[in-house]
Amino acid sequence: MTLVAIDGPAGSGKSTVAAALAARLGLARLDTGAMYRAVALAALERGVDPGDADALAALARGLEIEVAETVRVDGRDVSAAIRSPEVNAVVSEVAAHPAVRAELVRRQRAWALARGSGVVEGRDIGTVVLPDATLKVYLDADPAVRAQRRAAGGHLPGEGATSLRERDAKDAGRAASPLRVAPGALVIDSSVLGVDEVVGRILAALAGRGGVPPTPTPAPPRAPRPAPASRGPGAGELAFYRVCRAIAVGASHLYFPGPVLGRRELPRGPFILAPTHRSYVDWLIAARVTRRRLRYLVKEEVWRSRVAGRLLEALGASPVARNSADRQAITHALGVLRDGEPIVVFPEGTRRRGPAVADIQEGAAYLALRAGVPIVPVALGGSERAMPRGSTLPRPTRVRILVGEAIDPAAFLPGAGSGGRVPRVATHALTEHLRQRLQELLDAAEGRAGAEGAAGGGG
Ligand code: C5P
Repeated sequence: MTLVAIDGPAGSGKSTVAAALAARLGLARLDTGAMYRAVALAALERGVDPGDADALAALARGLEIEVAETVRVDGRDVSAAIRSPEVNAVVSEVAAHPAVRAELVRRQRAWALARGSGVVEGRDIGTVVLPDATLKVYLDADPAVRAQRRAAGGHLPGEGATSLRERDAKDAGRAASPLRVAPGALVIDSSVLGVDEVVGRILAALAGRGGVPPTPTPAPPRAPRPAPASRGPGAGELAFYRVCRAIAVGASHLYFPGPVLGRRELPRGPFILAPTHRSYVDWLIAARVTRRRLRYLVKEEVWRSRVAGRLLEALGASPVARNSADRQAITHALGVLRDGEPIVVFPEGTRRRGPAVADIQEGAAYLALRAGVPIVPVALGGSERAMPRGSTLPRPTRVRILVGEAIDPAAFLPGAGSGGRVPRVATHALTEHLRQRLQELLDAAEGRAGAEGAAGGGG
């Protein structure tokens, strides 16, 4: 677990250094400034007053913000729009409201919690968001150097020295989480240092704290990616996942022996694994479907237990707040799928009883249509007997896991491919199709239809 917090004023080189460091360590990176910019842009576009704290907080809570290679707000690519002079002019005022910060800080912590490792940059990362980070860095540079860096903004509009100074003054002078050097932070003045030198100092400090191997890996990673456009998990993350998966799967085999049928159908790229849900141990049984890292969305409450949280985290799960769940969960899930990883969604939502697959939720279908990835229906036969609702401990039970053929969402879209708005009619149709497939598979897995053919072959 290596979390690096990088703070500093505009133009101090945070983004460049964070990107280079993340690439060097094979970690994901989060630009929190882009999140505040996304809220500021949405406020400008929707005519929300940058001084109206309540309206801004409500706006922030309702936005789907995705910060990865590109920055997306409600699915729209705003990577360039958030760097406009208009956004520069209002972002610090928007970011000064505690209620706006509370929402974004919550999302930033969830991002870090979900990954365990990463490079997070901003203004309050070491002081507020991740005070327990492995290493806190404060990057600074001479004001003239910073203004020059921002003015040389490539294809994006540069930022004048006056605007930069004003933004700095607001960020350092505000009451809520002002820009400060965090206690214990490594302070680096990047005025006369190159990116490699700054990264070198950070790596050296990290090695001293046991955050990374003593000899950093050579830059940049050249290993072939498992899937196109996939950032995927880092090597350490993956190794830890494999160990935890081996233990979980070992226990699962011991307690719940039985075959996995139809596994050869699994797509190679990202997909949504959609199992039936009859018991608390379903995630343990479903983990046997693939050796690839499966990302689960698990209700936030479960993470309050440190042990459960650590195990779930190692198994690639992410916390989801149930009250504000949908948008945040969808944004997160779309990010995971864009990174090329499979995600687990239980379409029945909560544990059900009995043989019927009914009233399933539309999240899986919506995600599949939105991301253009297949859904793999899976029936976990026997799981209800393994730990029926109301029981406190699982009991050894034979299970039968039937993996159905992947469902291609494109067949449910009337016009051209995915990526844009998802018609409700398509979501309904795909949901009903998924429900029927799950019912057939569950019947077969429980031996009711006696048809193993439902899984499309053995595996
Ligand atoms: O990093 P960047 O210059 O893109 O950030 C834009 C603005 O977002 C900052 O000027 C600051 O007002 C706000 N911000 C913040 N806290 C963070 C990151 C950015 O207040 N963690």
